Amino acid sequence: MSPLPTVTEILMDLIAIPSVSSASNRPIIDYALEHLKPIQWNFRMFPYLDLKGMEKVNLVATPRKLFSTEAVELALVCHTDTVPYPDDWAEAVRPKVINGRVYGRGACDVKGFLACILAAVGDLEVSEHSVAVAFTADEEIGCVGAKRMLGERQLYARNAVVGEPTRLRPVVAGKGYALGEVAVRGKAAHSAFPQAGRSAILDAASLIDSIRKVGRQAEMQRHERFDPPFTTINIGTISGGAAKNIVPAECRFLVEWRPVPGQSERWIADLIQEELALAQRVDPGLQATFEAIRIDPGFETDLQSKLVRELERLSGNPAETAAFGTEAPYLKKLGAETVVFGPGDMLAAHSSNENVPIAELERCVEILRVLISRLAISSSE
Ligand SMILES: [Zn+2]
Repeated sequence: MSPLPTVTEILMDLIAIPSVSSASNRPIIDYALEHLKPIQWNFRMFPYLDLKGMEKVNLVATPRKLFSTEAVELALVCHTDTVPYPDDWAEAVRPKVINGRVYGRGACDVKGFLACILAAVGDLEVSEHSVAVAFTADEEIGCVGAKRMLGERQLYARNAVVGEPTRLRPVVAGKGYALGEVAVRGKAAHSAFPQAGRSAILDAASLIDSIRKVGRQAEMQRHERFDPPFTTINIGTISGGAAKNIVPAECRFLVEWRPVPGQSERWIADLIQEELALAQRVDPGLQATFEAIRIDPGFETDLQSKLVRELERLSGNPAETAAFGTEAPYLKKLGAETVVFGPGDMLAAHSSNENVPIAELERCVEILRVLISRLAISSSE
């Protein structure tokens, strides 16, 4: 038998298969299947068509077939898509090793961890382990695959490791992400006669002031694990008005907030809605609507859970929080104690300098092997 490929070789193969979210992730799934076939796992494929009609696939692989609601002890979860790369970065899909690091798109976000999973299970005596490998689609464009995994209950797990580049630090909590739009309608008029119209921009300005109040309210609910230790609000874009000499008939602005875990996901949306309703009661002529476009929850895992303690011990790194969004909240909602973990640094991700240290890849494979042997033990045994 030919020797199994190393984690670095697997990663180089994976980088050479482009899998930007706009394309199908099928080639990556096929590569993973080829890799898992010799160990004769059971595969479940969950294909769907994305908004552009492109085929995307979630894959769940387990050593043996599971009953429909059977939970595995440990799930290793990894997304298969990457962000795009600029045209002038010719080596994005031609990986290179320089000074002990692998360079290329996806090297750390997150094909590095994907390669670690394949290397860790490739030579495992698996039949008795209660473990699942879950590869998801479309994380980079809003965790679409993970949301489907939750919605269709494609997997149940007691513990889950979600791969993202955390420099092998166990990340046990993350803020959520939410976005909404306020649309204000006024009445156009010649600006020499403003009393004949109603300025949507001035109305928007007073609503923005009300939303600042919501921000101050949010600051009162503190969550000391984070920096800053509360839900933050940002009004990132505003647009309105047709010309300098016309009273503006329309104004829109986007409100983004990052909720700390444990808070009702709709809390800020409800507060903004209340501010709007209050403003309209005071001034019935005010015409404004607020629509929540996206509300993704945060997540938080018990520091005393076995998964957290094992990962702290195996990595030698204490648990941390993360500022970036991940698929972890969806695994958490599926009932798993969830930790985000993986080789490489998020600061290198999404850049033309994306890379991962080979030493971290190899260390991660070892950690996953021990984790499987410690956690993926069926409770029935
Ligand atoms: Zn990622």
